[in-house]
Amino acid sequence: MKRELGIARCGLACCLCSENTTCRGCDSGGCPDKDQCENRECSLSKKLSHCYECKEPCRKGILKKIKPYAFSQFARRYGEEYLLDCLERNEKNGIIYHREGITGDYDNFEQAESLIEYIKTGKKE
Ligand code: SF4
Ligand code: SF4
Repeated sequence: MKRELGIARCGLACCLCSENTTCRGCDSGGCPDKDQCENRECSLSKKLSHCYECKEPCRKGILKKIKPYAFSQFARRYGEEYLLDCLERNEKNGIIYHREGITGDYDNFEQAESLIEYIKTGKKE
């Protein structure tokens, strides 16, 4: 885990992304989706560093997807540092963010709350 890369504007975990050997994170402009990214554009226009700081949380852009939405909600509730602590502990326990391509153990959740609980406990319900 490259903790210094932290969490992207949308909530995705740049610190654990399999592309972080070449990309230095969302704000480096390295994300392949950056030119069409509604969340990057909107949070920049509001002078926010992340969607989780926003007073009008929404499901625009990539936040339609459960993973970034749940990660953002986690950081909103408990703070980015605690999110990073949980991700670091989970990684040490064998939970892989990108196991195949860009999917891994935090994917395939149907409810954001179940994923939030999984991040927190490292255990599936
Ligand atoms: S999807 Fe948008 S907000 Fe998320 S990392 Fe890429 S550019 Fe940043
Ligand atoms: S309105 Fe939505 S996309 Fe824009 S900064 Fe807030 S949470 Fe992010």
